Amino acid sequence: MLMSPVEFFRNLPKKECPECGQPIEEQAECYIMECDHCLSKRDE
Ligand SMILES: [Zn+2]
Repeated sequence: MLMSPVEFFRNLPKKECPECGQPIEEQAECYIMECDHCLSKRDE
C-alpha cells in the first residue's frame, strides 16, 4: 500500500538538535541545525 505524500511527511522524524537532542521547531531558516540553547552557547 502506497503512502500519500502527506502521510510520508507526517511520518518523518522531527528535527532534533545533534548537541542535546532537543526537538527543533521547523523554521524558515532550515540551515539551522542546533537548538537556540546550543546556538547561544556556540557564540561564546
Ligand atoms: Zn541543543
